[in-house]
Amino acid sequence: MSLENKFPGKDISIEDIKTKFPLAAKKNKNHKSRFKISGVEFGSNQIPIFAGPNMVESEKLILNCAKNLKKIGAHFLRGGAFKPLTFPYRSKKYTETREEGIEWLKRAKEEYNIPIITEIMEEKYIDLICDVADILQIGSRNMQNFPLLTECAKSGKPIMLKRHYGASLRDWLGAAEYLLVEGNKKVILCERGVSVPHTHRSTSRFLLDLQVIPAAQEITHLPIVSDPSHATFWRDWVSPMSLASVAAGADGIMLEVHPDPKNSAVDPLQPINFKDFKILLKKMDKISKTMGKFIIKGR
Ligand code: PEP
Ligand code: MN
Repeated sequence: MSLENKFPGKDISIEDIKTKFPLAAKKNKNHKSRFKISGVEFGSNQIPIFAGPNMVESEKLILNCAKNLKKIGAHFLRGGAFKPLTFPYRSKKYTETREEGIEWLKRAKEEYNIPIITEIMEEKYIDLICDVADILQIGSRNMQNFPLLTECAKSGKPIMLKRHYGASLRDWLGAAEYLLVEGNKKVILCERGVSVPHTHRSTSRFLLDLQVIPAAQEITHLPIVSDPSHATFWRDWVSPMSLASVAAGADGIMLEVHPDPKNSAVDPLQPINFKDFKILLKKMDKISKTMGKFIIKGR
């Protein structure tokens, strides 16, 4: 690590830690943020699990997911009602459910008592989304939408900031600093895969940057969640990469789970089903034990 960074670099210098993201940076070697969100601890020995479909497709789907995922052991229900879809042309099936989707998430939360994480893309929906969300998800495509970050931080809601697939750790921590500087302390980072020359399958878009977990933990006290579903884009790789994420020290895991993965409205190659989620949860719990951590309380 160089001492100075007079010219903007892509990687982190000691100077950056002091001047660019002093709030995101650790104060000492053992500094780690610990906080509770809706009764679930982050940054402790517990590894919270976020699970759910890519999109809140229908009321039936989200209620089914809430019921089953809670029973299996997920700590949070994930699902986007407002979604950044790569192309503007959408079939009926592929269309965001927006306000209606938020309403369905609310019903799922009330009926099954499971906290919610959902994406926010526009400032004008902050009140609507904060009404149901326990955590606001800022998607990778908005990682550097600074006005959105500032307004979300001001809401006081916990925030999970997904890393853009082209962003350095330096840029990611810079974005996190925008949240912290507003006085919001419940900030979580999420690695979801980066763009690289090779992804090993023509259908895979990204590569899970496992190395960023220890690299980030060396610099920041913020919890780091890993999202192997978006990273691999391929359900058969989700289990090995989830286990590897736990082994690499991830402070949480986000997984796409759908009762009928092949018929998922969005990205049908990546979700796993309830049965495989249950098996994976047990395996991750085993790995976490070897690291002095746990996923399922009391096991
Ligand atoms: C998501 O989690 O639904 C999502 C859109 O992820 P990302 O922003 O990482 O693509
Ligand atoms: Mn997605």
